[in-house]
Amino acid sequence: MRKQDTIKATETKMQQTTDRNNSKTKPIILLDRDGVINYDSDAYIKSVDEWQPLPGSIKAIAALSKAGFRIFVVTNQSGIARGYYDETELNAMHTKMLNLVHSEGGTIEGIEYCPHGPDDGCHCRKPLPGMIETIESKIGVDFTQTSAIIVGDSKRDLEAGHARGCHPSLVLTGKGRDTQYKAFDFYFDVYADLAAFALATLHKFN
Ligand SMILES: [Mg+2]
Ligand SMILES: [Zn+2]
Repeated sequence: MRKQDTIKATETKMQQTTDRNNSKTKPIILLDRDGVINYDSDAYIKSVDEWQPLPGSIKAIAALSKAGFRIFVVTNQSGIARGYYDETELNAMHTKMLNLVHSEGGTIEGIEYCPHGPDDGCHCRKPLPGMIETIESKIGVDFTQTSAIIVGDSKRDLEAGHARGCHPSLVLTGKGRDTQYKAFDFYFDVYADLAAFALATLHKFN
């Protein structure tokens, strides 16, 4: 290697080190499930077979995970309270989801779900922030202090996250196109889908 090349290589190496040292703290990412990761249905997703990932969503989660983002899923599952499926079937759906993400080399660190109906008076059903608070206490963080992003297709997803200081991001899959023009009293980012969110987020926090 010529001396000039050696200097150049050293400079490149130093630049890379600087880039690493300057890398921004990666926010924790909270994902709604139906309409964000998998196709939603007004008739509910009732079985493992009905649970089908949206195009690009699994690779998006895996890419974020491999880049060092911690990822959690936060999902209302009132279909359980309504008797459309049980927790065994729900767990099977989640095993399918986790296996797909693993097969792309990524990890979902945790899944919180609310099995209650809208009239059950629970504190976990979004727009209430109970499931997000559970994640905070499980991993020992406070999202009003530690940066986090909530990604959802419904207003209540963004409201639940916003209530705990998570930065709200809307995707236009699932119910997202109906949600985008609803009245909100806070600002949120908008992405075409989870893949677009992942790409932007990877660039922003490299
Ligand atoms: Mg949803
Ligand atoms: Zn609940």
